[in-house]
Amino acid sequence: MLDTRELGRRPGSQRQVTRTVPAPPDLGIEVLKVPEGSPVEIDLRLEAVMEGVLVTGMARAVLEGECARCLEPIEEDSEVTFQELFVYDDPAHQGDPDEDDEVSKLEDDLLDLEPLLRDAVVLALPFQPLCEDDCPGLCTECGARLAEDPDHSHEEPVDPRWAGLAALKQDDPSSTSQD
Ligand SMILES: [Zn+2]
Ligand SMILES: [Zn+2]
Repeated sequence: MLDTRELGRRPGSQRQVTRTVPAPPDLGIEVLKVPEGSPVEIDLRLEAVMEGVLVTGMARAVLEGECARCLEPIEEDSEVTFQELFVYDDPAHQGDPDEDDEVSKLEDDLLDLEPLLRDAVVLALPFQPLCEDDCPGLCTECGARLAEDPDHSHEEPVDPRWAGLAALKQDDPSSTSQD
């Protein structure tokens, strides 16, 4: 929570905020997130406007997770930027009630940065976290990590359909020996 009272609700007044906060839980997604409690550096400009406070800023944190293909642990710097208008939560500043859900509000002139931070971090996440762009993943036969063993191979597996045919062939002599 950030206090915006210093701005005095005077349009045009500004405040710069730089601080490091512990990461809230679930900052990210299951396979890639900022571990809870690890430092998030935030750098913000709060600017009072007619309807509320405009927040422009960026956040920096380290994401941890695992490669979607080979499950190798990943550590990745993340830097996100965001901008959001928080409107004053009082009747004089109420807009269209239908839009209420989409509008961020100040509560008693306090600003909750967490949803904004969460959205920015999640939006910036890769669709699939990978240890390297062309991670070859794991061997489907034995689970070895192919990035460490690119020439990895196994004997051609016996196709079960051919195994069945081979068994039929073996039966053949007995079935034709009845003539
Ligand atoms: Zn990988
Ligand atoms: Zn293998």
